[in-house]
Amino acid sequence: MGEFLEKLISDFGNKTITTGDVLANKASSYWDPTPIFAKGMARPSSTEELSQIVKCCNEQGQIIVTHGGLTGCAQAANSTKDHLIISLERMNAIEEIDEIGGTITVQAGAILENVQKAVAEKGFYFPLDLGARGSCTVGGNAATNAGGINVIRYGMMRNHILGLEVVTADGTILSSMNRMLKNNAGYDLKQLFIGSEGTLGIVTRLVIKLETASKSTQTALCALDNFGSVINLLQHMKKKTGPRLTAFEVMWGTYFDAVTEEGFHKSPMNRGYPYYVITECSGSNPETDDAIFMSAMEDALETNLIRDAVIPKSEAERNSVWIVREGFEPVLTNKPLFLYDVSLPIKDMESYIDQVHKSLQETWPEMVCYVIGHIGDGNLHLMVCPREGDDSLHDLSDQLVYGPLKEIKGSVSAEHGIGHEKKKWLSHSRSAEEIELMKLLKRTLDPNNILNPGVIF
Ligand SMILES: Cc1cc2nc3c(=O)[nH]c(=O)nc-3n(C[C@H](O)[C@H](O)[C@H](O)COP(=O)(O)OP(=O)(O)OC[C@H]3O[C@@H](n4cnc5c(N)ncnc54)[C@H](O)[C@@H]3O)c2cc1C
Repeated sequence: MGEFLEKLISDFGNKTITTGDVLANKASSYWDPTPIFAKGMARPSSTEELSQIVKCCNEQGQIIVTHGGLTGCAQAANSTKDHLIISLERMNAIEEIDEIGGTITVQAGAILENVQKAVAEKGFYFPLDLGARGSCTVGGNAATNAGGINVIRYGMMRNHILGLEVVTADGTILSSMNRMLKNNAGYDLKQLFIGSEGTLGIVTRLVIKLETASKSTQTALCALDNFGSVINLLQHMKKKTGPRLTAFEVMWGTYFDAVTEEGFHKSPMNRGYPYYVITECSGSNPETDDAIFMSAMEDALETNLIRDAVIPKSEAERNSVWIVREGFEPVLTNKPLFLYDVSLPIKDMESYIDQVHKSLQETWPEMVCYVIGHIGDGNLHLMVCPREGDDSLHDLSDQLVYGPLKEIKGSVSAEHGIGHEKKKWLSHSRSAEEIELMKLLKRTLDPNNILNPGVIF
């Protein structure tokens, strides 16, 4: 087992430091069912306990890999048998909902969906929302600066965080648990840690700003003939519904058809259209909100912007629309599957995807490429299966996927982060000076390179 691990067990006990079977029974991640590799796992119950464990690790040069819900898409929580995992699973308390200030104080290991439900019970709304809501943690959301389906109206995780508590590499507890909207007293240190993928510190607690719960939600699934109509529908919805617009998600027809094939999700409308969009609005006046939304839909149908639309009339019907977008498991049966998370100007999306598709097809004639995206945020996800059973797409990504992206000044990571997987392409989206400053920050905050080393660069 090793002396260091024995010492940790004797100092912190078997409940906090686990080894062997516990790890053997845990899947590496949502994406990889093989068991976790690590020498052990620490599951601290408080910030203070975590701080002491990290201090010991720093003194011994023990590498730490932090785990939230393991839903991350960039292999940022990968570990080897020499690493110690720090899991935040026992630090999942909802500490306080401040109904006057409109904030929630929560430990980092809390599951996103539990936080959403807790605030909803008090009439509030936490707008961060993504398909992994039932497994991902708010600490992981902060560490990856998660995006999701409501960014078009509310922004990314960064926009929701008022305060953050972090344990840095030497065990220091850096408590910036600010609750105010305005606080310009010096550097806003929490921003350093948000989106740093566990490389600069371990997030332990958060103060999150809440929105007032809306009183109405309107959703539509629309079928469209071409990408020009997708862009025009986005503009149309923005103009007609104003600040009510909360989601605008696009699905290429090949994706829609694949997930609604016989035996998978039930298709809420005819299959076979080139594009599908889910658009959603919410507001505080149900009558007016419904009328505005319906009028926008009618205009879009009358002017042939959309070919067909389904407007759910119940929560169950709404779920049957969203499952098509969020339940992409049917596509995951294609192996090997490569997931890309790019951002680029909306005007370049169609030609970019056409170009990537053409080059992929020239290389692997049998390949499949499914595209979905948070198009209002300029973010597309490509799921590519070369159907040839090898890993060469990873090596050819530069040429086939990221090369054309660089030309239009897109980003190799819109919302998933860089992790281990994409560090080779970081320089496509960040300058040498930016990367040098990132490395300087890392060296300053973690001189022994114990926190998620090798992640990002
Ligand atoms: C079905 C599905 C849908 C998804 N949809 C979206 C989406 O729409 N938008 C989006 O942005 N992402 C999406 N994701 C990706 C993923 O859910 C997010 O990246 C999420 O924020 C990761 O949280 P986690 O708790 O699972 O983190 P993990 O996967 O456990 O970790 C991710 C990274 O954060 C670090 N980390 C975790 N917790 C902490 C902590 N407390 N302190 C410091 N570092 C930490 C890890 O070391 C790792 O580097 C999706 C994933 C799935 C499976």
